[in-house]
Amino acid sequence: MEIENKVFVITGAAQGLGKTFAQDLAARNARLALVDVNKEALEQVVDTCSKSDIEARSYQVNVADESEVEALFNQVSKDFGTVDVLINNAGITRDGLIARIKDGEIRKMSLANWQAVIDVNLTGSFLCGREFFVKLLEQKKSGVCINISSISRSGNQGQSNYTATKAGVAEMTVTWAKEMARHGIRVGAIAPGYINTEMVAAIREDVKQKIIEQIPTRRLGDPSEISHSVFYILENDYFTGRIIECDGGLRI
Ligand code: NAD
Repeated sequence: MEIENKVFVITGAAQGLGKTFAQDLAARNARLALVDVNKEALEQVVDTCSKSDIEARSYQVNVADESEVEALFNQVSKDFGTVDVLINNAGITRDGLIARIKDGEIRKMSLANWQAVIDVNLTGSFLCGREFFVKLLEQKKSGVCINISSISRSGNQGQSNYTATKAGVAEMTVTWAKEMARHGIRVGAIAPGYINTEMVAAIREDVKQKIIEQIPTRRLGDPSEISHSVFYILENDYFTGRIIECDGGLRI
């Protein structure tokens, strides 16, 4: 797919990977519908993208809310006249062991922390993917959906909730690719390792250092290295139903 002038919906675009995708795509003359719950930070990203004379708009939306997501895709289609690409990127963590003993007391992962991560990462990806495909089918056009999974999809300590969502996102990618290929729509995913964003900055420093020691390249990834994988999926018209692992060689 040619990138220039295509309309991209990017969720979680106020910071981290989503922000980098937006800025890198703006540099390639894409048109941007940027989505996040954090309105203020999102508008700053829109400003930096618009500076390169690119049409970029902000949409304050909670991806876990069905009616907000339906309204989002209707509005984006009205504002831009069409939609070509979805990057399903918004995500959160609420880490903790499933059950443990501390000072003789049992502690467990709360249902609220389980549900919050399921709602944003899994249900949010499902809702945005579904509404994106509806728009493409209505307009009888092709397009590309890119889901952001994670190295944690294979099972990571302290992340029952997150792992379940990222495994779900990876397998939905395969399913959607099979279902949508007949309409000329491709679906791919990226499973990043530990990338230098605000999400990873929140990890305790000593824990982060131990993680870096395990990475064969001995460093965190840079967000631009995940953008590179986005460009690969966009530009390779034979790529669908697969997950790119970009993780410095780490296995967890
Ligand atoms: P981040 O925390 O820096 O940014 C996530 C963005 O999503 C934030 O701007 C946040 O406001 C937004 N968001 C959260 N909940 C939302 C909601 N309900 N609706 C709309 N927006 C919402 O995270 P990041 O590191 O940039 O991660 C981006 C994606 O990549 C996530 O799906 C994450 O799971 C995945 N990922 C990140 C890493 C990493 O090392 N950083 C590794 C693997 C996968």
